[in-house]
Amino acid sequence: MLMKIADNYLALIGRVPDDVKIVAVSKTKPVELIRAVYEIGHRDFGENRVQELVAKQQALPLDINWHLIGHLQTNKVKYIVPFVSMIHSVDSLKLLTEINREAARNNRVIDCLLQFHIASEETKFGFTYDEAADMLKSPETKNLKNIRIAGVMGMATFTNDRQLIRNEFRNLRLIFTSLKSAFFSNDPSFREISMGMSGDYEIAIDEGSTIIRIGSLIFGER
Ligand SMILES: *Cc1c(COP(=O)(O)O)cnc(C)c1O
Repeated sequence: MLMKIADNYLALIGRVPDDVKIVAVSKTKPVELIRAVYEIGHRDFGENRVQELVAKQQALPLDINWHLIGHLQTNKVKYIVPFVSMIHSVDSLKLLTEINREAARNNRVIDCLLQFHIASEETKFGFTYDEAADMLKSPETKNLKNIRIAGVMGMATFTNDRQLIRNEFRNLRLIFTSLKSAFFSNDPSFREISMGMSGDYEIAIDEGSTIIRIGSLIFGER
């Protein structure tokens, strides 16, 4: 099992360009499997649930960069802010404000990605372009000093239609480019496009992804 995971991981890094970051998505997987990937040298891991993220952070080495990739409720922000490296799933000003408040209490500045709704499914969270633009224009957002908006995140539709997936990723990249020129043209921190999972990461990289979030291709099916 551990050898298989090491092989999966090494095969994956062989196929991904060096300038694309891999977040190894370890949700539902035990800490021994995470440790196997850690020991090869990997440091970026992602979880989608706060409770699981906190438990694993406490059980594993402190130099892991933890990414929260799933929906985050404001009342749970306080549990992850002391240690989290990046929050990929910011989908409201209310949430961003709460992250900022907790980050200030912890003397931290937290990297946040704005999640966009790019899929044709109803169930995925995220901003529309206009919602995000309205938020970024507002004085409230400009006053948040303990968050750094580092880019965008999105999930494509769960489908076999490769062209649909490609169009959705292309749309996210256009959103990124538009926001960059409208709000972040002098801000080098706004630079990440988090898109692509085990089934579609190659298309995502083709369309300009800078961070892919890979679970089953490393750790096996859930
Ligand atoms: C589970 C999950 C992933 C990884 O999914 P795989 O298909 O196993 O690679 C990526 N992003 C998010 C938001 C997830 O919840």
